[in-house]
Amino acid sequence: MNIVEKIQKRTAQVYLELRQKNLVKLQDIKILEDDEAYNTRLKICYVCEQFIKDKNKCNICGCNMKLKAKIHLFNCPLEKW
Ligand code: SF4
Repeated sequence: MNIVEKIQKRTAQVYLELRQKNLVKLQDIKILEDDEAYNTRLKICYVCEQFIKDKNKCNICGCNMKLKAKIHLFNCPLEKW
């Protein structure tokens, strides 16, 4: 499974979880198309004290950052991006 397929799969999972809680509508879930914005998000995470490098995860939200950063709707729990 390549990165795009992983993102699509995870996006669908996240959407279903949020939808069950009535927290989001389908049109709210969009892939971040701007590569520069995506890379900026990752760069911020990579120097963050909460970033778990060997797992590529955020210690606070528990998300895989390569996937989370690709979803337009999502943001950093510490409001760094
Ligand atoms: S999402 Fe925010 S808190 Fe988590 S690793 Fe990235 S910058 Fe740090």
